[in-house]
Amino acid sequence: MSIVTGSLFALALAASPATPAPPKPATTTLAPGVTLLRGEFVPGRQPDGNTIVVDAPQGLIVFDTGRHAEHAQAVLDLAKARGKPIAAIVNSHWHLDHVGGNVKLRAAFPEAKVYATGAIDAALGGFLASYRRQLAQAIDMAASDPKKQDGYRAELALIDAGERLQPTERIAASGPRDIAGRRVELQVVAPAVTGGDLTLFDTVTRTLFAGDLVTLPAPLFDTACPARWSAALAALDASDFKRLVPGHGAPMPHEQLSQYRRAFDGLLACAASKRAAAECTAGWIADAGALIPDAEQAFARTLVDYYVGNVLRGDASRLEANCAAPNDLH
Ligand SMILES: [Zn+2]
Repeated sequence: MSIVTGSLFALALAASPATPAPPKPATTTLAPGVTLLRGEFVPGRQPDGNTIVVDAPQGLIVFDTGRHAEHAQAVLDLAKARGKPIAAIVNSHWHLDHVGGNVKLRAAFPEAKVYATGAIDAALGGFLASYRRQLAQAIDMAASDPKKQDGYRAELALIDAGERLQPTERIAASGPRDIAGRRVELQVVAPAVTGGDLTLFDTVTRTLFAGDLVTLPAPLFDTACPARWSAALAALDASDFKRLVPGHGAPMPHEQLSQYRRAFDGLLACAASKRAAAECTAGWIADAGALIPDAEQAFARTLVDYYVGNVLRGDASRLEANCAAPNDLH
């Protein structure tokens, strides 16, 4: 089974040299004890996913850890300001913009438990191994551009951190959990965005942490099983939450998740039809409406054009492999 690395890397390769470091993530209080650190997602730089920090009786729970060192540092700064240790990390899925910060956070808090599905095991031998080879080549090709090389090297080092990205507590089944003394519900979705995704519902504030099941300005299909992802969105839409935090983009009330879901299903239906790819992109922009800020529309078009052409209408065997029965997630 060969898996080709997807567009996020291609977009980063096309970036102008010496892309500046990401800014410090914006921090918002969503509810008492629940803080969002917004991950940056802009053209030309590898993204950071959103991080959510929850105050729990035994310390902080960190949901997703970002990719860049600056993002992880902001999480550490927050922990310092709160005067609390990071007691637990929960990773929604193994993409590097969601697990990359594990390395830095675990170095500072070696006792922290890390909760995730076991899907990263297959990724380290498959998608991430293939991505690593591409990074090594890209470093050679960028010999005249040391700053670009540094960016690739940082990325490669994350993959080489391997086991420090992996969970200490493997979640293979959905259900209520006590994490750092706080009652949450974990939902395993496998496969969807990856071979094994995790959502967290905070029962105290009725906030749903959806990871990349909800991604703006567009869903990213690099490692996805689109049909199962659609089913997962239907299940989220049927659940009772007050607010949802996506993997990328702004928090939303329930009705906006319903809108996202309609736009997502519309995009899949268009890609499966004979309609022109440009119509599918225009449909996504129209259906998602206010979910996509004006400043992000051009980026949304670039992403959707890419995914319709190269993934949704691309190599069918790749989608089939992504949709195959998941490996044992233990
Ligand atoms: Zn992501």
